[in-house]
Amino acid sequence: MAEKILEINNLTVSFDGFKALNNLNFSMEPGELRVIIGPNGAGKTTFLDVITGKTKPTIGTVAFKGKDLRKFSEHQVALLGIGRKFQTPRIYLNLTTRENFEIACNRNKNIFSTLFAKIPSQEKQTIAGLLETVGLTAKADMKAALLSHGEKQRLEIGMLVAQSPDLLLVDEPVAGLTDEETENVGSLLLALAESHSIVVIEHDMEFVRQIAKQVTVLHEGTVLCEGNFEEVQNDPRVIEVYLGSQEEHE
Ligand code: ADP
Ligand code: MG
Repeated sequence: MAEKILEINNLTVSFDGFKALNNLNFSMEPGELRVIIGPNGAGKTTFLDVITGKTKPTIGTVAFKGKDLRKFSEHQVALLGIGRKFQTPRIYLNLTTRENFEIACNRNKNIFSTLFAKIPSQEKQTIAGLLETVGLTAKADMKAALLSHGEKQRLEIGMLVAQSPDLLLVDEPVAGLTDEETENVGSLLLALAESHSIVVIEHDMEFVRQIAKQVTVLHEGTVLCEGNFEEVQNDPRVIEVYLGSQEEHE
């Protein structure tokens, strides 16, 4: 059997005695697209923090492709092949879409040498491919500041992909997007899922329906249930803690 891309055992993270994650078990196959949902405070962001090495387990283990991540710093975890997209885009607004990709392809070099150096033709091709993948070819030479919110999200996802991670972690990529932009981000993640393992944290149920194969529901720092969208949506425990409370607000 192939090695799991992620394998998390008995994970507990305590903050001054408060268990943000509580005896959590989780695993994912290589190439899987997994959506994680759960009410506010369920531990979703802490879950990503532990995978990226930002927060260390109090108890338990997190293994990436069989490697225990405990001894690695955040920077080392990124180099091992885990890329994280934060909620707010971290892009260079004063640079063009293309220049943002040039920098993403050259993370180890400094920004000035990247912008003033001659770009090798192979890298030009890589960047053309990235622009195509994220649907921003027509806006390659536009300043990133002028992109719509959804385009900025797609640009940042593309910048992560430029670093060829094996595992992509994406925290609430469609918060505040229009329906059309939400659908574009969904299609992009589905396309990327053909060649990457991806964890997406999301609240927007229509979006989850669009992209989800397997869904994991977190509640009070632990896994409440897992299944496909229909199974999770119809699980009475989920309706109680999450979907139910959301419907009341609609
Ligand atoms: P979610 O992303 O699902 O909304 P979080 O992972 O951000 O949940 O938080 C889970 C719980 O842990 C929350 O109750 C939060 O207040 C608490 N928490 C998160 N980070 C810290 C911290 N650094 N110190 C103390 N409590 C924290
Ligand atoms: Mg969060």
